[in-house]
Amino acid sequence: MEHNTTKSRRAFLYQLSMAGLSIPLAAAALADEQTLQNMRQKKDGKLGIALVGLGGYAGGQLAPALQQTEHCYLAGIVTGTPSKIPAWKEKYNIPDKNIYNYDNYDSIKDNPDIDIIYIVLPNSMHAEYTVRGFAAGKHVICEKPMALTVADCDKMIAASKKAGKHLSIGYRLHFEPHNLEMMRLGTKKVYGDIKKIAAGFGFVIGDPTQWRLKKDLAGGGPMQDLGIYCVQGLCYTTGMVPISVTAQEGPKTIPDKFKEVEQSLKWQFEMPNGLMADGHASYNDNMNYLRADAEKGSFELSPAYNYGRLKGKTPEGPMNFENINQQARQMDGIALSMMKNQPSIVPGEMGRRDVKLITSVYEAMATGKKIKIS
Ligand code: NDP
Repeated sequence: MEHNTTKSRRAFLYQLSMAGLSIPLAAAALADEQTLQNMRQKKDGKLGIALVGLGGYAGGQLAPALQQTEHCYLAGIVTGTPSKIPAWKEKYNIPDKNIYNYDNYDSIKDNPDIDIIYIVLPNSMHAEYTVRGFAAGKHVICEKPMALTVADCDKMIAASKKAGKHLSIGYRLHFEPHNLEMMRLGTKKVYGDIKKIAAGFGFVIGDPTQWRLKKDLAGGGPMQDLGIYCVQGLCYTTGMVPISVTAQEGPKTIPDKFKEVEQSLKWQFEMPNGLMADGHASYNDNMNYLRADAEKGSFELSPAYNYGRLKGKTPEGPMNFENINQQARQMDGIALSMMKNQPSIVPGEMGRRDVKLITSVYEAMATGKKIKIS
């Protein structure tokens, strides 16, 4: 039997995720269409995005997605590698005046083509380039994890407020129908109270010299890179934020590769209602799931966090949502909220919450103690 996805609910979710807005905001969006039209003075009514750091994610996902977006487009690039420029220029028709490096990055403030700076750098560089982006008077989208410390998150949020510009985190799954359905099923208690919930994300990481395995650049191992999706899933499916955590590091079976960061870890969040939420992240095991056992049955995604081909099931059968271009939906949703000066559904405060949770997991792992999360 197919999961009970009515046309209207699918349409609702589609519109909701397309717009990247919460329910009241979506209603306001309709009423405010005229304002939106008035605010659209940019090229084809779109906001210009500059990608900062032309690596795998910027080149493989974000730039192609920006060819499909309705409310934003790829206007500029910031790179420390001049040899990458010709191919990007040619492929995406980027004018020389919109190409920057890390030294002249701040002069982007004088460029009216760029409305949004999208930070796609190694984790340890997120805070600095976000703060500099706000100093340049631009909106900022920052990739996950927002930063390596809560203190840096606070600086980023303060910079956003001072500039009067929006800060959003690259949490693409808040715009993805399967994950939106997990949020709905969990928070609306469609199958009753959740009694058990677990999330796991892992893959076998390649190149042992990459920045993801260096503590100063990555801030840690799979927790920073993959565990953050589990932290997110456990929070958005339950609609709760953990109050304490215990954690255990997994064995290092390849110690040379994992000299600086954990190879794997498991953690257990305690939710305010006493529910235990289990997380597992690894750079040496393949897993990809978000599963909730509720009073009237289980609902789950597996895979849960990929860019596409997500699969879900509930007590009523498989979920039946289309797989969409998550990055295009995410950037359109965020751009629309910026245009309309409405709150982001993936704000800096959410990124800060997750950095705090990750920091607490690491503290629990290091001390072997239960850590209270205030
Ligand atoms: P890559 O290593 O592929 O790219 C990072 C880019 O940053 C490099 O190509 C380089 O670009 C620039 N850079 C500047 N300084 C350094 C440095 N010291 N070491 C390495 N690179 C440097 O990483 P990803 O694109 O995979 O990840 C970038 C960010 O995006 C991370 O924070 C990651 O967590 C996030 N991400 C998010 C995903 C999501 O689904 N939301 C998916 C993948 C990544 P240049 O040569 O142009 O200067």
